[in-house]
This record gives sequence, structure tokens and C-alpha cells, in this order.
Amino acid sequence: MKRPHDPLRLDVAAFAAEGAQLADRWPGVGLQRLADSQTPPQDLVLPEVAWSVHGERLPVAGGEPELWLTLAVQASVWLTCQRCLQPFRVPLAFERRLRFVRGEAEAEALDAESEEDVLALSRWLDLRELVEDELLLALPLVPRHEVCPEPLPVSAGEAAPGDDAPEPLHPFAALQALKAGRGPAGKA
Ligand SMILES: [Zn+2]
Repeated sequence: MKRPHDPLRLDVAAFAAEGAQLADRWPGVGLQRLADSQTPPQDLVLPEVAWSVHGERLPVAGGEPELWLTLAVQASVWLTCQRCLQPFRVPLAFERRLRFVRGEAEAEALDAESEEDVLALSRWLDLRELVEDELLLALPLVPRHEVCPEPLPVSAGEAAPGDDAPEPLHPFAALQALKAGRGPAGKA
């Protein structure tokens, strides 16, 4: 039986060679790290994550073909507005093109010198982990309503939080830590 936390293993080389496609929707609660980053109103079920991926093997004159995955993700997440401190739902939709090469060293070199995201090809890619990593990287650094729904509470002796208030460090620091741990050689 398949459980929501099982990894979804993808043989990238074969997937790309076939030009294959996959798409699915996952319950938000199945992505633990993303769930931990959210602050939904009490008793609310986390929104689903919809994704699709397709593989390509692109011929290269005089060289080995390039292996690519294109990942598209649509989801929404519950975050806390840093201005009014109320939970709100943030829609996320993005597409990532990822190139896969053989060998950690080549992946690191190419990743550093190009705009592309280059990852080392391994026997299996955990698609669930990849989707979750990309979602975490796509979270806004400082989540805020465009227009907060209620008047801001102002208590005596305290400055009202607003555009001039210092940005909270917490979400930014968490993302930097995540980015530092990611990279062509960053994942087991
Ligand atoms: Zn707000």
C-alpha cells in the first residue's frame, strides 16, 4: 500500500530518454517539511499540491545528449502575514528546468558557471523531496498581505508594525539555511 510519506522514486535517465510525463496531486499534510513551515488557521486541512514533470533527452552535436526535467508545481500555503500577524493563503505556481549530468563534480562545476540548475544524476531521484524542496525555496521571504484585511492593532507604548518595521529574520534565515544545504551535491 502506498502511504503519503513514501518517496516517489524516478529513474531520471530512463524517464528523460522516453520523454515521459507524470502528474499528480498530493495532500498538503503528506509533505512534512512544507507542513511544518505553514501556519494554517486551527483545524484547517492543508491545501493540496499539484505537480507535473516531464523528461527530455536533447541531442548535442558531437556529445552526449543532455538530460532535462521540467517540473511545474501549483499549490497554496498558509503563512502568517508579517504586518498584521494573521494567517493567510498564499498561491504558489512555478516551473523549474533542471539539467542532470553524470558525476557530482561535473554537476557542481556546471551549476556554478551557468544560470541553469544542474544536478548530479543518481540511480533514483526522490520526486517528492524535489517537489518539496522547490516549494520551500518558492516561499516568500517576508509573507505579507497586499492589503491587510483589518485595521492594525496598536497598543500603547509599542510601535505599530508597518513597512518601516525591521524585517523579521526568521523566514529569511530558514531559507538561507535551506539554500546552503542544497546544490548538486547537497542531497544524499
Ligand atoms: Zn496582513
